[in-house]
Amino acid sequence: MFVQDKKTKPSPSHRQSSTTYRSHFNSRQASPGKVATVYQRPLRQAARPVVTIKKVSNSESNLKIYPLGGQEEVGRNCTVFEYDNDIIILDMGLQFADEDMPGIDYIIPNVSSLRGKEKNIRGVIFSHGHLDHIGAAPILLEQLGNPPIIGRQLTLAMIKHRQEDYKRGTTKNLKTITIKSVNQKIKLGKFDVSFFAVEHSIVDAVGLILQTPHGTVIHPGDWLLDDDPLDGQAIDYSYLSKLPSPKILMLESLGISYSKERVPDKTSLANLEKLIKESPGRVIIGTFASQLERITHLLAYAEKIGKKVALDGYSMKLNVRIAQELGYIPLHKHTLIPVEDFHKYPENKVILICTGAQGESNAVFSRVVNGSHRYINIKKSDVIIFSSSVIPGNERSVQKIKDQLYRLSDHVIHSSIMDVHSGGHANANDIKKILHQIKPDYLLPVYANYYMLVETKKLAMREGFRDDQVTVLDNGQIIKFQKNKKPQVLKTKVNTDYIMVDGLGIGDVSEIVLRDRRMMADDGMIVIIATIDSKTGSIIGNPDLISRGFIYMKENRDLIEKTRMRVKKIVKDKNPMNLADDNYIKNKIRNDIGKFLFKATKRRPMVLPVVIKV
Ligand SMILES: [Zn+2]
Repeated sequence: MFVQDKKTKPSPSHRQSSTTYRSHFNSRQASPGKVATVYQRPLRQAARPVVTIKKVSNSESNLKIYPLGGQEEVGRNCTVFEYDNDIIILDMGLQFADEDMPGIDYIIPNVSSLRGKEKNIRGVIFSHGHLDHIGAAPILLEQLGNPPIIGRQLTLAMIKHRQEDYKRGTTKNLKTITIKSVNQKIKLGKFDVSFFAVEHSIVDAVGLILQTPHGTVIHPGDWLLDDDPLDGQAIDYSYLSKLPSPKILMLESLGISYSKERVPDKTSLANLEKLIKESPGRVIIGTFASQLERITHLLAYAEKIGKKVALDGYSMKLNVRIAQELGYIPLHKHTLIPVEDFHKYPENKVILICTGAQGESNAVFSRVVNGSHRYINIKKSDVIIFSSSVIPGNERSVQKIKDQLYRLSDHVIHSSIMDVHSGGHANANDIKKILHQIKPDYLLPVYANYYMLVETKKLAMREGFRDDQVTVLDNGQIIKFQKNKKPQVLKTKVNTDYIMVDGLGIGDVSEIVLRDRRMMADDGMIVIIATIDSKTGSIIGNPDLISRGFIYMKENRDLIEKTRMRVKKIVKDKNPMNLADDNYIKNKIRNDIGKFLFKATKRRPMVLPVVIKV
């Protein structure tokens, strides 16, 4: 995955194209009315191609699938399905930035390959409301001329809220089609679209079936298997094996590396309920905002036993509010209390549910633990519960927070003590089961790190799949399906370079900016201010040096003095062609002083020359 990742980082040529790419999209408006009517046609009529500009004979027809993200990372999930002149997109997720991308908020899928094809996009389907599936929607939908969006109620409501957060008053531009039941069927161009129920940690998650004459795609989105789910019966996917062949299963494989059996939701909830009920003091639960099902159940349980709940964490509060507005959480209006009122209730009557159980330095849970939360300080009698797993890479920060908690409270509970968390993804055993239930002709492992996709392929082959039945695609690779032919991975790839979002700027942060940030984070910076005579180019006074994060100047007087002398010399040896060429002087200072400082300190600070002409 790591090798692959490098490929997807923007090349210098991409930086240039990114601005033109945006302005192109901004100036372009796909004809929204036309797109909407395509979907509204009666099923029979729509079977004929609506766009008949170029007649494609059936022998040329094929189904192309290409992921724009989600194949080499967790997040940025986005897949394109293309059949003749009809395009469907599944999910528009974001990916949170890596540690080596300082200041970058997140990365979104690159849709430049769809430039010029906006009119062919029949719809964008969203499998569920997690950010790695909907997070990039406001930006990408706008870039693609607002094609119709399709999802279940909660998913669409979450997209609308994100849209409003992104640009006030733009929700009205969204053309939504609500999936009212999993039995609903929609015709989108030549795609027959239907759905199926899946279990996941958020309500309204849905699986997708795309039928075309050249293959049936089955895509559960994120999924898990629970033998004894909280609501309803366990899902058996065997009926999907009866769909027309060739059946192409695109399987989210994030859980392949989970060696432990998944804790059933019922078990973790029962344990949480017991802890809440028996707690003599306050209960503080740190979990993921994405665990909406669990939060919903905890709220209902708190209400049942007459305890009050305060929620803290922006995304958690937002998710609960949306679910409440839709009637998914029928609560008495006094059960939820503002966090600032937490102290007003008896200690055995209050629960705080908050985000940040991964030790994220700015998140609510961390602030509670390190005493910087405005309203809550931990007491010895508090019951503190980590209802979360440790996301790989966060082990150290979680460990730190645990150590701190054990000093503050006598009752700290986490998953290695009691089952208080159930993951949202299927594990290797479940993957094995679903493969036998659906019996696909072809398998494309998706929505995970590269190594997980390869491990899923290996597992499938142990279960009897042939090598040519399972393909692990890179981001941007195109696989083509044609009836009675073997699937073919095309040699050309579509552009999936990173589009980085930094604050409110999209794609404004190039690799150069990132390199500068990394450089400053690693070795600091040094500013060199030289004043020169605008006529003669000779230096006036002593150059000023300012160091930040590089060296402590007071203890390095010798080095500072030597640097000053060098700057003076550089200015003195100024470009003979132009006496006061400050660009020449700046470049020379940057290069020479950079080399000099590296030799002296083995560090490469960012050198910022400032030349003032007087
Ligand atoms: Zn999810």
